[in-house]
Amino acid sequence: MDIKVKLSGHFGRVCINSFVKRNYFVRMKTAFIYTDAYLDYDYGPTHPLQVIRLKLTYDLIKAYGLLDLSSVQSVSTVKAEEKDLSAFHSGEYLNILRQADKGHLSGNACCYGLGPGDNPIFRGLYSWSLLTTGATLQAVDFVAEGKGEIAFNIAGGLHHAMSARASGFCYINDPVIGIMRLLRLGKRVAYIDIDAHHGDGVQRAFYETNRVLTISLHETGHTLFPGTGFEHEIGKGEGEGYSVNLPFPPCSDDAVYTWAFEEVVPKLVQAFNPDVVVSQLGVDTFYDDPLTNLHLSIFGYERVLKRIKDLAPRWVALGGGGYNISNVARAWTLAWAVMNGVELNEELPESFLEEAVKIGFEAGDLKGSRRPPLHSQSEETRTEMERVVRYIKETVFPKIKGKPWNPP
Ligand SMILES: [Zn+2]
Repeated sequence: MDIKVKLSGHFGRVCINSFVKRNYFVRMKTAFIYTDAYLDYDYGPTHPLQVIRLKLTYDLIKAYGLLDLSSVQSVSTVKAEEKDLSAFHSGEYLNILRQADKGHLSGNACCYGLGPGDNPIFRGLYSWSLLTTGATLQAVDFVAEGKGEIAFNIAGGLHHAMSARASGFCYINDPVIGIMRLLRLGKRVAYIDIDAHHGDGVQRAFYETNRVLTISLHETGHTLFPGTGFEHEIGKGEGEGYSVNLPFPPCSDDAVYTWAFEEVVPKLVQAFNPDVVVSQLGVDTFYDDPLTNLHLSIFGYERVLKRIKDLAPRWVALGGGGYNISNVARAWTLAWAVMNGVELNEELPESFLEEAVKIGFEAGDLKGSRRPPLHSQSEETRTEMERVVRYIKETVFPKIKGKPWNPP
């Protein structure tokens, strides 16, 4: 691609084409992991998780020229090996998944969370899981081997899967498997989950250890699946204080969300002092997501992403939920721009829109206009979140210990 560069007068800011404005002289090395092979798999026509959202995201990122930056590596997804999965999942469960790969319900699959509904059995579901997990392991290896600072797997972040059970559209828990590999390499890991749903599978996996700090911000379990993630879930035994939950009432908006994030997350991450931050970047927190009740906008999302970037010495970024496919494409494109220190023009590239609208993308701008705050909810919500934040500061903050830590 022919990239024209011209200085525009601000410190370090240059335009590289009509769509992108660059912000920094020193650029981090990043990897974007993707394959069109994702499109071979399908949860079914009525299932909320539409794999096409990954293709739309990739196409928008590409149309903005964000894979042509000299600091970016485009990495084609390679499947995980079966032994990688058994680091977390039981052999019995993996056998069931292998059988289900043919697309038929077999044996006692329903005992493992499989069947009509959230976790359907579709042809290739095991191969799908090997791909989504493989991409996370590639992201982990990229940062752990020092090839670069940030890697993004938009197909990952399947945070609900348990060691022997599918849950919440997730069959294999790629965040857990990725974090386990980082631990084996002697890294300290902080996990930040901003999906609208509680990151229960990841919390469960590391609930009794102080080797991973898990922080999940989500809609309260009183109103949303999986019904967990309350502030008093703080870990157990050696892990006490290393599981942190910020449950938000329905209708929480950018203002209260970013306030609570700012009060809690930076101080905890800085105190823990990780080598790597792994994040789940679900975009089902948005006001127009069909499955949830939070009221964030892409502006709040962007603010949080920038803070995670500030906090992360190395960053393994994973996708997650998001059931409005236009939001997903826009938000993860913006996320990728943040990771690369680039500002994007509001206007979406024509070359993208032409094809995207044919497959359900709703035309518009990258971020759109700001929404006014929800005054009717703000005071009640703020009071509740002040209580939650106070609880975390009193209960969790004193327990977090930073380095030194002896890897196994
Ligand atoms: Zn979710």
